Amino acid sequence: MPFHVMLIPTLGCPSKCSYCWSSDPDSPKMSVDTIKEVVEWLKEFRPGEAVTFTFHGGEPLLAGADFYNKSLALLSKSLKDRKIAFAMQTNLWLMTPEIAKVLAKYNIPIGSSLDGPKALNDMQRSEGYYDRTMKGYRIAKENGLDVKFICTFTSYSVKQKEKIFNYFLKNDLTLKLHPALPSLRSNKPGEWALDPEEYGELLVYLLDKYLENMGKIEVMNIDHLCKCIFTGHGTVCTYVDCMGDTFAIGPDGSIYPCYRYVGMPTYVMGNVHDHPTMEDLMGSKAGKLMLRYKKYVDKHCKDCTHINYCRGGCPYNAMAPYDGKIKGVDPHCIAYKRIFDEIIDRMNSDMFGGSSSLESASFGFPPQQSSKQGIMAIMLKEI
Ligand code: SF4
Ligand code: SF4
Repeated sequence: MPFHVMLIPTLGCPSKCSYCWSSDPDSPKMSVDTIKEVVEWLKEFRPGEAVTFTFHGGEPLLAGADFYNKSLALLSKSLKDRKIAFAMQTNLWLMTPEIAKVLAKYNIPIGSSLDGPKALNDMQRSEGYYDRTMKGYRIAKENGLDVKFICTFTSYSVKQKEKIFNYFLKNDLTLKLHPALPSLRSNKPGEWALDPEEYGELLVYLLDKYLENMGKIEVMNIDHLCKCIFTGHGTVCTYVDCMGDTFAIGPDGSIYPCYRYVGMPTYVMGNVHDHPTMEDLMGSKAGKLMLRYKKYVDKHCKDCTHINYCRGGCPYNAMAPYDGKIKGVDPHCIAYKRIFDEIIDRMNSDMFGGSSSLESASFGFPPQQSSKQGIMAIMLKEI
């Protein structure tokens, strides 16, 4: 569902993760009245289209059970003429059986964050983080919620990649990798950020580990990168033109191009209370900036073989090191090229080198379990 509305009930967060620049202790909280305005706005904005709502933050559970009870009922009932889906990204600290039951009623998949074993996680995130997240995780699971963890790799933790991979494997947890990023809000934007070359090597390492352990763990990034090549277009926001399809709504109803810009007045495109049209939003200063990035990619990446399923990566990543200016594409370009080239090389060798996984998959047999599998096993996997 390409149309994506991120709802940011607050930028407040009880944790103080070392590399997170998006929380604001003075942030207001979104009211149910603002959700009513979201509904009114969406009655006229891209009417009839399917839409995914993701609750993000800050820490979205700070909004409380009552907010979710009322907001989810409102969004589901008032927009029942269109296909809608929900998701949430939370550190789970404030998960209670009451909130979990509300979220379970709407089948909301949960994304949470864990950087690996307890000592490493708490060193990067904050003392006591691991235990509080695990407590919330248990409550979520007891109430039937599906929880997947995002693992942020920093310039520090990438040195312990094996330990981190083994932690996720041993604990039967899905792994979704997130590279620590430079930030528009920090005066040291690159602190903790993962070097793009190291990021590329990390992706190749995870590809190898994934193939060695097929069926025992899911590595979501690798699934998506392979699907990008297999289908010829991006399957996550980083690898498509997100501008005009993704919007984030801050606590006061301000509309931004993505949750990463929320709270920064320069990037406000409009406000849900004014029920802006697409022309209003994309005609704003922030909207024009996003469209300029798309044009920049068309020109800068035109000779790249990966352009159709990369699209210059993430515009926020591209702008963060340059104080919001467009002076290059996503600096992770180096990593994207490294992993896309690697996948294509292995795909060619699978196809023309007669890998067992391709042969067995094409005859409808499960691929062999005894040896390391070929890349086609991932390409053909359902995600
Ligand atoms: S700005 Fe980056 S993170 Fe945000 S929607 Fe676009 S690609 Fe995704
Ligand atoms: S890999 Fe680099 S050059 Fe190619 S489309 Fe992506 S950002 Fe552009």
